This record gives sequence, structure tokens and C-alpha cells, in this order.
Amino acid sequence: MFERADWQRKAAVLSFPDLAVIGGKHCAAQSGQTFVAVNPATGAHLADVAACGEADVEAAVANARQAFDSGVWSGRSPVERKQVLLRLAELVLAHRDELALLDSLNMGKPVMDAYNIDVPGAAGVLRWYAESLDKLYDQVAPSAADVLATITREALGVVAAVVPWNFPLDMAVWKLAPALAAGNSVILKPAEQSPFSALRLAELALEAGLPPGVLNVLPGLGEQAGQALGLHPDVDCLVFTGSTQVGKYFMQYSAQSNLKQVWLECGGKSANLVFADCRDLDLAAQKAAFGIFFNQGEVCSANSRLLVERSIHDEFVERLKAQAERWQPGDPLDPASAAGAMVDGRQTATVLRFIREAEREGATLVCGGRQLTFNGSQNFIQPTILTGVRPSMALFREEVFGPVLAVIPFDDEAHALQLANDSVYGLAASLWTDDLHRAHRVARRLRAGTVSVNSVDALDVTVPFGGGKQSGFGRDLSLHSFDKYTQLKTTWFQLRS
Ligand code: NAP
Ligand code: MG
Repeated sequence: MFERADWQRKAAVLSFPDLAVIGGKHCAAQSGQTFVAVNPATGAHLADVAACGEADVEAAVANARQAFDSGVWSGRSPVERKQVLLRLAELVLAHRDELALLDSLNMGKPVMDAYNIDVPGAAGVLRWYAESLDKLYDQVAPSAADVLATITREALGVVAAVVPWNFPLDMAVWKLAPALAAGNSVILKPAEQSPFSALRLAELALEAGLPPGVLNVLPGLGEQAGQALGLHPDVDCLVFTGSTQVGKYFMQYSAQSNLKQVWLECGGKSANLVFADCRDLDLAAQKAAFGIFFNQGEVCSANSRLLVERSIHDEFVERLKAQAERWQPGDPLDPASAAGAMVDGRQTATVLRFIREAEREGATLVCGGRQLTFNGSQNFIQPTILTGVRPSMALFREEVFGPVLAVIPFDDEAHALQLANDSVYGLAASLWTDDLHRAHRVARRLRAGTVSVNSVDALDVTVPFGGGKQSGFGRDLSLHSFDKYTQLKTTWFQLRS
């Protein structure tokens, strides 16, 4: 399809949105402050982006509230809201290469992944919620004959969404599609490392016919714009995807302010269990590699802990090593690159520190482990596998958010489950077996929001996504996510005879 030269040509003439979108207008930060957006794959300066703060959050919340109260969106019929969101889905697809490039240049992922996965994924989620919203019925309670009691779902009002940089467009759309479908006004704060696609989406939403003020996008730093949204007394609900540490801050912000609802999708340390009775070990190895190396390992549900039954451990690691070879990083604009750059130098250093520390603690480096340089940038890390990892090591316990796989042998089913569940996280888990009974037994006992059987990282708009323990609570995707964006109202009509 596209060659590297095509992407380079498109990148050379791309314009980077650098202003907030508040009340349908482009705005600089009221303080005049900006932050720098850099391409992590080249070090090139891309734009100086408005660094929104408290005053801009005030303006965005006032606009969002006014839009909500006016009924300009919340009061429109479901079928009208559906048409606008369907148009937005179409516009996202019509700007597929632009949006793919904005995310790739901004945070380093291969542009073809953004083109083939992120952008159509975002359009699909928008379309799915658009299609769902005029098919949801409310309830009538089984009450006495002289009573009519209805149970209706109502939009909450002003929803703020604070999202990370690893799938910038998709994480934004996972939140705003159901929030808007339900009739809310939304304020979105993208991560400072990846503001562009969210800002472009705000423009496309206006073009699709979303009234001004219904979707506001505020680029800015977490400690400024993010915190101000968390503490604002007129934000009704805050949805977050990001690290567990920042998720905890949002619980505090809520407690210190108006007790706004908070829903968290936080970190993970997902286990992938391979039993000796799995017949297709080549497929298991191929998927295990995908599960940790896709998107440079910057995936919250990455299968970062591989638990292998001892009898097949060495043989499986050999197969895996061959698969890891296929995930070498390179120029994100080259369609041949399986992986791209890490998001920034800090994340690169963090990942390398985890590798060195695990080695110091006695783990064995099977492959990778080195930093690479392309186009003058050192933010590239080889796909890395370490064996001999013990549960006490940081590499077993902490989220790395990079292309680093920790491998641990297990002796039997009980041991595998004990290792898998030995984590403060509970986002996802995978298991490989051809024993039907074992598949059901183990799937039931894994403490995770999603369990993939003979697959990794099962994900679809039709099924909920999210975790338990310190991976957070509440679910994105599927009809269940409307639980976060609506509240139930009971209306009791006492009838006179
Ligand atoms: P992060 O540092 O927690 O940042 C997430 C968002 O929170 C960003 O918009 C960030 O803004 C903002 N933020 C940071 N500090 C804040 C503060 N003190 N107050 C208010 N807001 C603040 O996470 P990240 O580094 O962007 O992303 C990586 C993490 O996200 C990983 O832990 C990963 O597991 C998690 N993640 C989870 C899921 C999931 O669905 N469970 C999906 C993807 C990623 P700034 O960028 O401006 O600091
Ligand atoms: Mg950040």
C-alpha cells in the first residue's frame, strides 16, 4: 500500500493542531504557556502546544455545562445523536492517513499499525455506539396496579476524560463515544506526549455537526489541566486511563472536591499460562510474542509474565526466541518496521533499568536487551526475553510498559494459578491448553477482567474491557460502559382510582 517515501511526503506537509478546542473555538492557554511536542523517533520538534491550566478548565467546564443544560445535544432525539456520531465515524475514516500519522509522529508507534488498527478501531467504536444508542430501552417496575414506576437512564452532565499516550486516538474514543452517545458533554485531556489526534478529533466532531461546547479538548500537563479537572466542583464524572499511581490521585481529587464519580483503567502485569497439553505450541509462541512486543510493549494489558509448564519450558523459550526476532524496532514510517520508538527518553531509560536490574538479580537474558539508534534517536529497544525470573523481582511485580518478557516455569496447575494471581494487578490473563476441563477450571480461577483462552488479549467493542484489584474498576467498551455515563432515575406515579 503506502511506502516509506509516501509517509515521509505526507509527514512533510502535515500540520499539527496546537490549540485547545473550547466551546467550538480554537484557544491558546489563558496563561499563554505552551509545551513542546517532539517526535520520539527522530527528536524533531513538531509543535508548541497550548498548556491549559485551571483558567482553561474553568472555561471548558462552563461551556460543557451550558451546552448540557441547553439540551442542544442532551435533548436531541437518539436518532439525531446517532446520525452525528455516524458522520464522525465516517470523517475519522476519511482522515485515516492524517490521524495515523499524527499519532505515529507524536508517540513513535509504527504508522501502519495506527493506519490499520488504531484509526479504523476508533471509527468502529464510534459507529458501534452510534448504532446502539437508539436501541436501548428503559424499564417499568413490576409494581402494584395503582402505581407506574419507571426506571430510566439519564446522562450525568459533564464528563471529563483523562487518557494516556499509548493508543492516543483509541483511548480517547473509548471514553467519548459512549459518553456522547448517552447525551453528556465531554472534556478530554490527552496525555502531554500525544495531544494531536484528540485535537483533530475535536475539529472533526464540529464538522460532523456536534454542537460547540459538547466536546472540548484541553491539551496540558497532568499536574495542571488533569488535576484541575479532577478537583473541579462542576465535573460530574471523571473517567481515566493511565497508571495506577495517577488513578489514586483522581480518587483523592474526588474526595477533596465534589465526590464526582471516578472510573479507572490503570496498569497491569498480565500473565500468559502455557500448559504442556497445548497442542499448537508454535501458535502459542507466536501469540506470546505479539502479546508482549506489539506497540513496543506499551500496552496496559500486555502479557508481560509468561508462565510455562516446566516440561516444555526450554523448548518453548526456543520457539519464542525465533518469534521475538520478528518484532525488531525500526523507523515508524517504514511499513517494514514491526515496532517503533518508545514514547520518550524517560520511558526508554525506565525500560532499560528494569532489564539491567533483573540481570543483576540473576535473571538470564535470552535475547534483546539493547538500545538501538535510528535517525539520530536512541529511543528504540530490542524485543527482550528474560528467563529465570523469580516472583520477588521487580520484573515480575511491576509494570514495565516496554518490550520485555519475564519467563517463569511452573510445576502444575495450582502452581501456575498461584503465580498468575500473585500480583496487585488484575487486568487480563491468557491460558493455552487443549484440555477443555482445564481451560474452564483455570479461566474461572484467574483474577482478571479478561481471560483469553488459546488466544491473547481478546478485545472487541462488543465485550467489556477493564480490570480489578489495582488495575481499576468500571469497564470500557460494550453496552456495559453506559453504566459509567448514565445514572438511574426512579419515577413513581401514584395513580388515583
Ligand atoms: P499516566 O502518567 O498515569 O498519565 C495518564 C494521564 O494522566 C495523562 O493524561 C497524564 O497527563 C495525566 N496525569 C499525570 N499526572 C497527573 C496528575 N498528577 N493529576 C492529574 N492527571 C495526571 O500514564 P501514562 O504514562 O500516560 O500511560 C501509561 C500508563 O497507562 C500505564 O501504567 C498503563 O498501564 C496505563 N494504561 C492503562 C490502560 C487500561 O485500559 N487499563 C490502557 C492504557 C494505558 P500528562 O501526560 O500530561 O502527565
Ligand atoms: Mg505523562
